[in-house]
Amino acid sequence: MSVATGTTVEKLEVSAHTIPTDEPESDATLEWDSTTIVVVRVHAGNAVGLGYTYTHDAAARLIEDKLAPAVRGLDLERDLSRAWHELGASLRNVGRPGMGFMALSAVDIALWDLKARLLEQPLVDVLGGVRDDAAIYGSGGFTSYSLERLADQLAGWVAQGIPRVKIKVGRSPDDDPARLDAARVAIGEDTELFVDANGAFDRDDAVAWAQRYADEWSANWFEEPVSSADLAGLRHVRESSPIDVAAGEYAYVPADFRNLLEADAVDCLQIDVTRCGGYTGFLHAAALAEQHGLQVSAHCAPQVSAHVCCAVPHFRHLEYFHDHVRVEQILFDGVLEPVSGALRPDRSRPGHGLELKA
Ligand SMILES: [Mg+2]
Repeated sequence: MSVATGTTVEKLEVSAHTIPTDEPESDATLEWDSTTIVVVRVHAGNAVGLGYTYTHDAAARLIEDKLAPAVRGLDLERDLSRAWHELGASLRNVGRPGMGFMALSAVDIALWDLKARLLEQPLVDVLGGVRDDAAIYGSGGFTSYSLERLADQLAGWVAQGIPRVKIKVGRSPDDDPARLDAARVAIGEDTELFVDANGAFDRDDAVAWAQRYADEWSANWFEEPVSSADLAGLRHVRESSPIDVAAGEYAYVPADFRNLLEADAVDCLQIDVTRCGGYTGFLHAAALAEQHGLQVSAHCAPQVSAHVCCAVPHFRHLEYFHDHVRVEQILFDGVLEPVSGALRPDRSRPGHGLELKA
């Protein structure tokens, strides 16, 4: 495989789109009523690569000012790996962890997609595919939902053939037993039930709830029981919890992943391709997890995650997050639909196969 010699990036376009949620949403530690996606398109010859991240629209200006000038003229065959380091270095004084790496992620995703399109190959094969599809779990179950809405959403995923679902917990812990009861009734005995506290609990409460989630509702995934900035706290919960503890959605730069792993903070490492530095950063973080003997789970942004999930050997599952599923269906043609609880990259299309609708 090789890109035609001398094919270089000619132009980068960026746009921000804010899309209202279908109803007000909350988890334990945040409330929101819209989602902003920043979309990058890079051009070379007749091909266009597409990438995006979910963040504030200020990232669009950051991309235009800091990253676009460095991308123009880039040789996709020779320079992609070097560009990731150079773009990251250019963000030093702006701040790399956080919005800086979200901006970089959108650009890296677009560049890999562009390279695959120039090669006329599906992205999964350019990244090094090891499987044909990526298992997903339905994710939503917001604390703002009525019990009826909660049950309908979860039952809808099960009806689609998705055998795992996740709900938010911890905003009003006294309300959670009724919510968990409703969830378990809606999904039946055979569907895996995950919970996400978004860092709401202190250590002792988190340990107590972990035991209850396991004993009373057979939950088997406890995400961010305490703040993911509290590495010792995550480890403490993990050592006492009968169910897997997960975190990683706020890991941006490689050191963030290393810190989580070296602290023995998680049973499964979450990686968000739109935050961790795109496909390049995802593969780096996944390799680090493998060295620590852990599987990885992809956080959010399902449509740009499916291909890279199929390129990671020790992959567990991909989050099919309600808000992002909706935004990606609204904005893009070529979205993948779940089949038998998984997203299967379409190998008949080059790149990741997504196109921004007119
Ligand atoms: Mg989460």
